[in-house]
Amino acid sequence: MASIFSMIVAGDIPCYKVAEDDRHLAFLDINPMAPGHTLVIPKREVDYLFDLPEDEYVALELFALKVAKALKAAMPCVRVAEAVLGMEVPHAHIHLVPINSESDVDFRHKLSLPGDEMASIAARIAAEFGK
Ligand code: AMP
Repeated sequence: MASIFSMIVAGDIPCYKVAEDDRHLAFLDINPMAPGHTLVIPKREVDYLFDLPEDEYVALELFALKVAKALKAAMPCVRVAEAVLGMEVPHAHIHLVPINSESDVDFRHKLSLPGDEMASIAARIAAEFGK
């Protein structure tokens, strides 16, 4: 069975899309640690990030680099944190989280933001990505 992220790639379930190219997709985490928390995935389904072939891993990180710059421009913050867990969804992904202090990185405390706010955040990041 396809992962939930493959279903997003296929357009079978919605997401708040931030950026896309032919091999990668970035969209907002549905339960963000902070507004703008973004997931960056390869469209090809591979369970675990560190099982990706080297060329696909490097391509994904280069795409994530561009997303991180757009995220920082759209959601002013001290740093964009990058994290890899993969405990919940078996489809390789990188978490990018705008943070102002170490304590902003806490996967036990996540938010549920209204849909219109999520859509507006995604549009802001997407606009910066497109510049
Ligand atoms: P992990 O696999 O532990 O790195 O966590 C998976 C992340 O995916 C969690 O932060 C979830 O909130 C997020 N997530 C799960 N389902 C969706 C979805 N349909 N859209 C966006 N984010 C999701």
